[in-house]
Amino acid sequence: MTYLTVSIFACEPGVFAEKVSEAKRLGAEAVEIRCDGLAKPDADAILQMIHSVQKCKLPVIVTCRDVSEGGVNPIDFSVRLSILKQAVEAKADYIDVEFAQFKHPDVHSVLKAALEGSETRLILSCHNFDGPFDDVNILYESVLALYPDAIPKIVYKARHINDCFAAFDLLREADRPLIAFCMGADGLISRVLAKKFGSVLSFASLDDDGQTAPGQVSVATMKQVYRWDGIGKDTEIFGVIGSPVAHSLSPAMFNQCFDSKKIDAVFLHFLVKGGKTEFDEFLGSVCERYKAGFGGFSVTMPHKTHALDYANRHGDYVDNLAEAIGSVNTIKIGFNGLISAYNTDYAGAMDALASVFDGDRHSLHEKKVAVLGAGGVSRAVVAGLVDVGARVRIYNRTLSKGESLAKEFRCKYAGIDELTEHTADVVVNCTSMGMHPDVESCPVPEGYLTESMTVFDTVYNPLETKLLKAAKAAGAMTVNGAEMFIRQAMAQYKIYIGEEPDEDLMRDVVYQQLNAKV
Ligand code: NAP
Repeated sequence: MTYLTVSIFACEPGVFAEKVSEAKRLGAEAVEIRCDGLAKPDADAILQMIHSVQKCKLPVIVTCRDVSEGGVNPIDFSVRLSILKQAVEAKADYIDVEFAQFKHPDVHSVLKAALEGSETRLILSCHNFDGPFDDVNILYESVLALYPDAIPKIVYKARHINDCFAAFDLLREADRPLIAFCMGADGLISRVLAKKFGSVLSFASLDDDGQTAPGQVSVATMKQVYRWDGIGKDTEIFGVIGSPVAHSLSPAMFNQCFDSKKIDAVFLHFLVKGGKTEFDEFLGSVCERYKAGFGGFSVTMPHKTHALDYANRHGDYVDNLAEAIGSVNTIKIGFNGLISAYNTDYAGAMDALASVFDGDRHSLHEKKVAVLGAGGVSRAVVAGLVDVGARVRIYNRTLSKGESLAKEFRCKYAGIDELTEHTADVVVNCTSMGMHPDVESCPVPEGYLTESMTVFDTVYNPLETKLLKAAKAAGAMTVNGAEMFIRQAMAQYKIYIGEEPDEDLMRDVVYQQLNAKV
């Protein structure tokens, strides 16, 4: 059992009790009382707080953190020690003290005597707020050597997601109860996967503003976005790799699909900062640990070309489309730890566009298509359109980029300001113009769009861009970017799980999230 623990700073006992009830209502599975929240903790008040957690039938952890390890008020150690002794007498489930303090023989002997014959367990904490420890294994062994009944708590700041693997390895190899995870935005996955890998506790905040340590997310996010309740030791791990990545709708969408089909899997945001080197290190670390249950990844900016490069060097299989487009947006980890790499942007874009032609991609044959932009998405769109024999002209702000993409796919090109000089049946926006927060931008001049055109905007935030509003006003047929996003995700789901996804559910989640952003 891994308790999803809400840490609450000690305060006026009545207010504290309300917070505990709220934590319980939200689904917290344990409560930590941070006695250092009070400048002068008083014994009576602390006792009332312990009782209010016990009344809610939640395990209680009593901590009076030292300022050197994140405590908020400097409290004399003798006071802290008496709070912990009192917590043992009050039958708290756990008391938590810093390993560094516990090493002092006086502290050691006082707490050891207090714990004698009690059911309270001692957590010995080691925190590093600056970065990883030199060697977590040595730390783990040293804690147990000093007090074999202790639960070591080894928590450090991840400077990069790659720092999380040491915590995972420690948890996987430990033969005793242990708490281990990483702090900071780069450590997010370790807070969620702590449950899969068997940490005794993981921490979440009461709400989005109530963090008691860097990188905590709310109980609601843990439960509703990251499927906390569905995670177990055999849960398969999926996610979206990108930087930035927190805005991605994929975790909410995939997790709801896993939930509805009772699939033992979780889908997370994997913030992989940096470039090719950091990406290689991340994917190499995952593949080395494939037996831990890593299933696959969606890949977004800036790592799509890094993923293709990795797959070409270390992969089992790279599909032809990914090779032709020059980027990979889907990785499946094989049973042997080798990866297969795909690009589903092509299918997503083509199926979205074809939806206005009764789902037949070949209706685009011979159609004159103006593709605006020459970046990553344009590559997938142009590859798809050229494949079905559409007459493509690429319009890009930087002419040289449009020219090189056009040469690669044997189509025409022009500057984006030359758009009105040629006619088109279909217009596809693959620039970022119109995307939040640039919502007032439109990639086509006023009066350009006509009733006979089909207009597809790959931008999906907002759902209805300025371009799509203008297209509707002109009487043109329209396709929004969410339809591409949903279809590329449907193709990914099939690669990951080997089954068709619930398209309606995916659409509901995406539209709900995007409408909520408006
Ligand atoms: P990218 O590689 O950075 O390319 C961006 C393109 O937009 C470039 O051609 C760039 O022109 C052009 N551009 C940017 N700002 C411009 C401006 N102010 N005026 C004219 N042109 C401008 O980005 P990407 O990965 O292709 O993504 C493009 C858009 O696709 C994103 O913004 C996103 O909304 C959308 N997208 C949708 C999905 C989906 O599933 N629906 C998936 C991924 C992305 P230069 O070459 O001159 O810089």
